[in-house]
Amino acid sequence: MEQRTEFDPLRLLDALHAGAEHDCAFTATSAEAARAWQEHAAPVLARSLGFLDRPAPPVEAELEQTVDRGSYVRERVVLRTWPDATMPVWVLVPKGLDGPAPCVLALHGHGYGVRDIVGLWEDGSERWQPDGYHKDFGCALAERGFVVVAPEISCFGERRADYSGLAGEFTGRAPDTCHNATAYAIMLGGSAMGLRVWDGMRAIDYLATRPEADIARLGAMGISGGGAHAYFSTACDARIRACVISGYFCDWRHSILTFHHCTCNYVPGLMAHGELSDFAGLIAPRPCLIEAGRRDTDFPIAAVRAAGRRGAHSAPATRSPSTNSTAATRSAGEWPTTSSPATSDRPRRPRRDAHADSGLS
Ligand SMILES: [Zn+2]
Repeated sequence: MEQRTEFDPLRLLDALHAGAEHDCAFTATSAEAARAWQEHAAPVLARSLGFLDRPAPPVEAELEQTVDRGSYVRERVVLRTWPDATMPVWVLVPKGLDGPAPCVLALHGHGYGVRDIVGLWEDGSERWQPDGYHKDFGCALAERGFVVVAPEISCFGERRADYSGLAGEFTGRAPDTCHNATAYAIMLGGSAMGLRVWDGMRAIDYLATRPEADIARLGAMGISGGGAHAYFSTACDARIRACVISGYFCDWRHSILTFHHCTCNYVPGLMAHGELSDFAGLIAPRPCLIEAGRRDTDFPIAAVRAAGRRGAHSAPATRSPSTNSTAATRSAGEWPTTSSPATSDRPRRPRRDAHADSGLS
């Protein structure tokens, strides 16, 4: 039976969305207007994410393990992130540094957690050949001379939420390990992404104490859920000076609202204020490399390119006279969008190939 268009709640939501004011729509055409927009949009984003207005505790770092990985050393450190919570991070330090080196906050996406980007199999055994869709990009960065901090973010690996209360209720596709914590966070007025942005900020707090890291040359990098994390973290934390967003940068109406995705992607109320390409104005004029898979149906390449073009509008408007040549080159005109020949390593989620230079060296 044919369904009437007006029966469809998505049509209604589109109409409600179209009719909303969108107070964070980025329309600035001058640097002054862009800065005023940023002053308005930054607290809106932080409030929507939630949990970011609390005092940060001292990190109380505890080194638990050191492993020689040839050209770099990998450390496991546990940080205090809340009065009642701690978080493991992996720190990769290249050997032979002759001074503080550029550094990267490396953010994993869905899967078995941070081990998948620092050269470890899920069972904790060493891995020397990149595997999975992350391709051990934390290791690749360390091999290129970056000091890397990679946190185990909320809901993954050793920080999975307790699912015992939902045992047996799901059939078919297993529930993402994010769901319980995300639902709880939403009921408290925040989001899983808010918890994760906080995780990243605390990892940066720790990195800033490491003499090997030049915190003034800090980047953020992630793919898929890690790309989302890199996007929000860079928008929220001015200490991040450049970012690589892989497999995520696409307006939400054309990506996470068009297919079934983990609940951790959704930030309550945010689209009432603006779209992803609007809030990209909080990243500008810092360099941002957007990477997308040409055959990624979750984040369609045409919509990614459209969001990149919209996001690019913010860069010239916010560029300051002091912006260095690298930033100006990468920010001016259009955010670079690269496409990788896509080969699928899981259904519907083509692999994104090697990450490009982050502009920090
Ligand atoms: Zn998730």
